[in-house]
Amino acid sequence: MTTADELISLVRAYNPRSNEKLLREAFAFGEAMHEGQFRHSGEPYFTHPVAVAMILAEQQMDDATLATALLHDTIEDTKASYSEVAKRFGEEIAELVDGVTKLTNLQLTSTQSKQAENFRKLFMAMSRDLRVMLVKLSDRLHNMRTIKSMRVEKQAQKARETMEIYAPLAGRMGMQWMREELEDLAFRVLNPEARNSIMRRFITLQKESGDVIEKITSDMRLELEKAGIIAEVSGRAKRPYSIWRKMQEKDQGFSRLSDIYGFRIVTATEGDCYRVLGAVHQRWRAVP
Ligand code: MN
Repeated sequence: MTTADELISLVRAYNPRSNEKLLREAFAFGEAMHEGQFRHSGEPYFTHPVAVAMILAEQQMDDATLATALLHDTIEDTKASYSEVAKRFGEEIAELVDGVTKLTNLQLTSTQSKQAENFRKLFMAMSRDLRVMLVKLSDRLHNMRTIKSMRVEKQAQKARETMEIYAPLAGRMGMQWMREELEDLAFRVLNPEARNSIMRRFITLQKESGDVIEKITSDMRLELEKAGIIAEVSGRAKRPYSIWRKMQEKDQGFSRLSDIYGFRIVTATEGDCYRVLGAVHQRWRAVP
């Protein structure tokens, strides 16, 4: 399990003024409260709040959010009360923990998209402090990363909720990486055959044409150099779920899809951006 020291050194790296004492106390309190509880995987329960805090520390969140992550299941699942958390850690953190607990207790049984939209709105309205949403989303992300140890029926239900409610919320909050990871983890559960077949296509494609991303990225760099433009170029394969969604939308097979890879070119000025567009389209035909 990640230790308090490991969490703190990660936090210190981006926030030298972080309140180490607060984080250590939240860590110790959470650990003591969850003592004797275990996850489905058999690990001590407290590994979960710590993993959630680590996800948030990777996003460089503030101390109150990290303390909330460490304590997020204490009011709900242990003998700790709101007033005890408030007395030890202050009203701000107690309210954040309480907010996460309230979101957790919302019964999300919907499988219909229209209902899902209502839940998304409700979620947003209920978390007046966006940090509550960030903890809740990170909580779901860790639960999805470890979903394999859950009962099969439970897995499907969590995966549907994730697809309909949490992933779109993460996207709406500007965290595309989280949206994509949540979608992919849910996709694994909901449609493993489709995901596997897309993964297999990628492997075949790679065998046939080598590392396409590397090849196109270096070609792009060369074109930009010729045009005298300084820019950063990066590329990546689209995630299996977004490929699959596109296949459904366009009703097309994998081999007919035209955007499996995405490339990003970052320029220093807006003017350069249009010059890049020109250089790229001279080499690669634009598809309307
Ligand atoms: Mn949790």
